[in-house]
Amino acid sequence: MAEGNYFSPGIETMDRAGLNVLIDERVQYTISYAAEHSPFYRHWFKENNIRPEEIRTHEDLLGLPIVSGRTIRERQPPQVQGFDFLSADWQDIFSIQETSGTSGTPKSFFLTWEDWKRYAEKYARSFVSQGFSQKDKVVVCASYGVNVGANTMTIAAKRIGMGIIPLGKCTFEARVLKNYRPTAIVGSVWKLLRLARRLTAEGIPPPETSIERLVAGGESFAAESRSYLAELWGCPVYNTYGSTEGTMCGECKEIDGLHVPEDLVHLDVYDPRMQSFVKDGECGRAVLTTLLPVGGKSGMLLINYDTEDTTVVLSRDRCACGRTHMRIVNPEREAETVWVSGSPFNRVDIESAVFQSESMEYISGEYEAVVTSQKGKNPEGSPVTLTVRLECFDPGDCDRHLVEDKFTGRFFRHKPGLKKQYNEGAFVLAFEYGAPRGLAIFGQRGRPKRLIDQRSTT
Ligand SMILES: [Zn+2]
Repeated sequence: MAEGNYFSPGIETMDRAGLNVLIDERVQYTISYAAEHSPFYRHWFKENNIRPEEIRTHEDLLGLPIVSGRTIRERQPPQVQGFDFLSADWQDIFSIQETSGTSGTPKSFFLTWEDWKRYAEKYARSFVSQGFSQKDKVVVCASYGVNVGANTMTIAAKRIGMGIIPLGKCTFEARVLKNYRPTAIVGSVWKLLRLARRLTAEGIPPPETSIERLVAGGESFAAESRSYLAELWGCPVYNTYGSTEGTMCGECKEIDGLHVPEDLVHLDVYDPRMQSFVKDGECGRAVLTTLLPVGGKSGMLLINYDTEDTTVVLSRDRCACGRTHMRIVNPEREAETVWVSGSPFNRVDIESAVFQSESMEYISGEYEAVVTSQKGKNPEGSPVTLTVRLECFDPGDCDRHLVEDKFTGRFFRHKPGLKKQYNEGAFVLAFEYGAPRGLAIFGQRGRPKRLIDQRSTT
């Protein structure tokens, strides 16, 4: 049961020196466990001439190769006969899970009950850091299924002693709020935005409901869309970054980066060539390693796993909340980054520019964007166009100048390279406006693709 401000006070507030000793001890144990129990890693150590006993510290992980989602898919049926990443006996496996498969074939994951408890521990810490206690009743809108998120939160809730309303989606009726008076909702930013709008239309202003806080997760989002959501609901919105692979980092009440549960997952940030670690404060690729407590068992562990997300280590110092575990910037999907002649931008940059407070009088925040270029005799010299389509409350009454001004100002704020190309005409911004429900994304199933780079196909 959670006590006061922390779920596991000893570990969450452990000083850096103690934490480093614990991490190195767990690195050693995890490596030896992998060498003994995982067919993939046994082979991988041999193939790469790695003597597992020589991996002593977390810095030694730099000498090991990186594995990716592709590596996992190549080591499971139909590519090979068995599951090479499975690292416990079948009788010890409590559940078989799969990733959502948004980026291809789902990856299979095998979890012992111990794995579940560790996953739940991470969520429980993050919930308590956001002020949750046994007084709370939480509507979980994340989906219950073969991915771990919603189930893990439910086990975490049990450990904290809080109540759960496991609806699995955000399309629930307003009576749920009226009758059960839940104190919080877990969902994605978009689902929570749409829910707020629907409630408002039904004459129930979200700030007048029993909801005291929201937890947003599932995909990266802009600071601006979070602020807007917080304003619509009149309560704080906390971020969590979880995955079937076992990340689960969460923001505390300070909202000053996501705490990484450093005793359970080790996170390194690599340069784009994946050759070395970047300095704290610099952006790079998030690479994770499962950390098993000495004597622990895991159904599937990952060493140097490329999340394909980018992040920045904000601080390894003690947070104002008292926790010592490092804090990172909300990770962004590398697959949602587009490059224009050496200058990158991410889907989240577009989102930041869309959610400008003055613009929200006219637009809903729903957007989709495409990147195109005219291939012809001179493909090198032809401009690249980013077309942004915005959903308007009323396309006939929308201050387009204002929306476009605000967008342009924010979009180029930290992007001098892109701005230069824009000023020179090599990069063009175009805007289109749609009526409510008029965007193509509304016809898509699953998570909508909001940024599409069509340059290779046009
Ligand atoms: Zn904190």
